[in-house]
Amino acid sequence: MLIRKQFKFEACHCVRECNSERCKKSFHGHSYVVEVFFRTPKLTDYGMVIDFGDLKKIGVAALFDHFDHSWHFWNKEADDVKEFIRNHNQRWIELPFNPTAENYAAFFCKAINKLLKTSNIDNKAAICSSVRVHETATGWAEATIEDTTNIDDTIILSKETMES
Ligand SMILES: [Zn+2]
Repeated sequence: MLIRKQFKFEACHCVRECNSERCKKSFHGHSYVVEVFFRTPKLTDYGMVIDFGDLKKIGVAALFDHFDHSWHFWNKEADDVKEFIRNHNQRWIELPFNPTAENYAAFFCKAINKLLKTSNIDNKAAICSSVRVHETATGWAEATIEDTTNIDDTIILSKETMES
């Protein structure tokens, strides 16, 4: 059985090293739409894959809230860029990967599965089978568990991001 829950966040990024001049040379924003898919071979006694209330309880909603209204940057940015972002923004996240839709999808899939494994949810057999990240109205990337093997999930959040 498969279910889907949608989350959203607004964020600023720059995708270095890609082919698009607009994407790689200018920081810009997106309204991200994220579809999270959960799968299980066995429903709970009350007939669910996972209770959406549990997602809030275990921190999935908070995870996306951390990413909202935040400046995301790759830790390979130039030192002066990183310094500017940290000094002139309350909300920022330093990422160990280039902030592409593909990498966000793999990161979220890995992070959500970690939350599921370490939390006491009713359905122990439920997994996050994939995450689809829509960066624009016309394009998305989808990551499955197999895609999470090589994604580094050691992100650094600003103090203000941690607190809200
Ligand atoms: Zn972009």
